[in-house]
Amino acid sequence: MGVNKIEINYDNGIEVRVNDNRATLQDLLDAWQPLCDNERLYKLYAQNQHRECRGCTVNCCNTAYVIPDLIAFKKMARFTGLDYPEFIARYFQRDKLEVGLLRMQPDPCIFLQDKICTIYPLRSLICRFYLCCQISGDTEQLVYSLSWTGATATQLFVEELGLLAGSSEQGLSSFDMMFRKLIEDYRYNPNIKFFMQAGEYSDIPLAPFI
Ligand code: SF4
Ligand code: SF4
Repeated sequence: MGVNKIEINYDNGIEVRVNDNRATLQDLLDAWQPLCDNERLYKLYAQNQHRECRGCTVNCCNTAYVIPDLIAFKKMARFTGLDYPEFIARYFQRDKLEVGLLRMQPDPCIFLQDKICTIYPLRSLICRFYLCCQISGDTEQLVYSLSWTGATATQLFVEELGLLAGSSEQGLSSFDMMFRKLIEDYRYNPNIKFFMQAGEYSDIPLAPFI
């Protein structure tokens, strides 16, 4: 039997091992998804710390700060049937747009209904990778880099369309400032091109992010 392209060990925090340098972001997502349903994992906010994420009463979607990656952004817009200007106007937080940040409407997330994500198969990398679990340093860096490269690609895409003009410093929360700094840090990252060129996560190679 062949070795899996991606292996995930979670005895001492979640740890990803990439065994094949042809692995794609979709391969990682396929390997990661079962962690959401895994009842053996210690999840800080889950009922009894050992439950699947579905039906979680704390539900990180209530407070999530989601700036979607470009693949998810385009798919979500298509799902709503809106063009980009209308999608942004209706689904993103107005006062954050005014300061140049693409945060999806929160508290709770605009896509959350009856504690269930209504766009689960289309949700963004930030949503897919978040788990209230211990994650090893290298793996955290990998998922962080993928999520923020993707989110910065959205920022650049929307800026290029002339749909995100604001950049005021007024009224920024500490989270806003942190996320803005992250986007600035990733703005010239060469890996952005993978998100700009891709239609699917399977088009994005993992190797440049490792
Ligand atoms: S990751 Fe989110 S949904 Fe899953 S157990 Fe933690 S708080 Fe609940
Ligand atoms: S898009 Fe879905 S998974 Fe992400 S925060 Fe919103 S409801 Fe939760």
